[in-house]
Amino acid sequence: MRTVIEGATVFPVDRANSEYGTGHVVINHGVIEAVGEGSAPDLGPVDERIDGRGCLATPGLVNTHHHLYQWATRGLAQQSDLFNWLVTLYPIWAGLDEEITEAAATAGLVRLAETGATTVADHHYVFPQGAGDPFTAVVSAAHQVGVRLHAVRGSMDRGQSHGGLPPDSIVESLDDALHGTEAAIDRYHDPEPGSMVRVAVGPCSPFSVSQELMKEAADLARRKGVRLHTHLAETLDEERQCMAEFGCTPVEYAGRTGWLGEDVWLAHGIHLSDEAVGWIGNSGTGIAHCPTSNARLGAGIARVRDLIEAGAPVGLGVDGAASNEDGGLGGELRAATYLARLRGGPEALTARAAVWLGTMGGARCLGRQREIGSLEPGKQGDVVLWRLDGYEHAGIVDPVAALVFGPLPQVRLLLVGGKTVVEDGSIRTVSDVDTATALRRASSRLIRRAEEA
Ligand code: ZN
Repeated sequence: MRTVIEGATVFPVDRANSEYGTGHVVINHGVIEAVGEGSAPDLGPVDERIDGRGCLATPGLVNTHHHLYQWATRGLAQQSDLFNWLVTLYPIWAGLDEEITEAAATAGLVRLAETGATTVADHHYVFPQGAGDPFTAVVSAAHQVGVRLHAVRGSMDRGQSHGGLPPDSIVESLDDALHGTEAAIDRYHDPEPGSMVRVAVGPCSPFSVSQELMKEAADLARRKGVRLHTHLAETLDEERQCMAEFGCTPVEYAGRTGWLGEDVWLAHGIHLSDEAVGWIGNSGTGIAHCPTSNARLGAGIARVRDLIEAGAPVGLGVDGAASNEDGGLGGELRAATYLARLRGGPEALTARAAVWLGTMGGARCLGRQREIGSLEPGKQGDVVLWRLDGYEHAGIVDPVAALVFGPLPQVRLLLVGGKTVVEDGSIRTVSDVDTATALRRASSRLIRRAEEA
């Protein structure tokens, strides 16, 4: 049960800012046993020895925000802002069912694993009537692919007839949303250290959810001891609507409804006043920063530097593949760095800080900083070996800069709890051919349903 990686450059993202030019990582029974410079110490029998020469070892990346079902609806509404994009896509998502969700989630998770993600937060909030159990479909997909899942049981109870954006056919009643969420927690939430599935409570956004659901969902999460996640302050349209309807900004609204705190992480957090940045930082509320999706929808550039300085945990998110067709997490390291620099100049975010966001920052957003996010003894054996020995990275003097600024390296090896999920760039736990076939069928069935509706 002992795996030894030797010969790699190791960037453990620990508190001491260690870096080992030629180092080792030892994993025993799924947990990291040793990390350091040079050859591995002799700790007992070794089952597998991995030659890491030419590679950079980092902690597995943590994706803090996603909608895996959207992998089935990519390339649509290409020039739309968030609200118009949603209005175009909601009627298509109304045709979603359990089978389509599982096909899309499997493909989305394969892409995430092949780009370095070992932990994925998925926010699923579309539950059309008669669609089976899409939440279970996501859990099952993560189980098959072999990554850690934070399954956010989303909800919407404010259809068009109540001033919301989604069609009435895809929203739930307040009671159904709360009961469905509680049932998901009871069935799937595993609070044990190293668990593969945790459940969080996630009403979708202030413009698709009633104030009652926001408040009662927060109460439910705290009663059950699980985390809270929603979208907030993504666009100026949202801010205008919030001001018109509730007479306050989205962050003030979050404060009023119980949505600021150390057990909350919010997707986006782009349009924030200095005061709002302070509230988020002081309350310890996490931010899932989704640079590519924000750019694709022209939503704006989050104040990442300011949020970090204010003390907020900031992690990286891919967001749904309908607003980020790449769907990979590794590329978000560079996107986050460059967007931060467009906003705050070339010193706004270093390559190392970007890797911190993608690992420890994400772990903090998900409340798992003691288990994952860095390579340290006692933490889970979630490791990525990035291949840097090809012409693509030859001569880049700094391996961390090669990862962040260079072409996204091939994942030589991705371990989750010490188990191999990706090897030499390819998924090893499921068939990529079957995944593509199932996705192609699911996607065309969904589009056909929308055309016939
Ligand atoms: Zn989102």
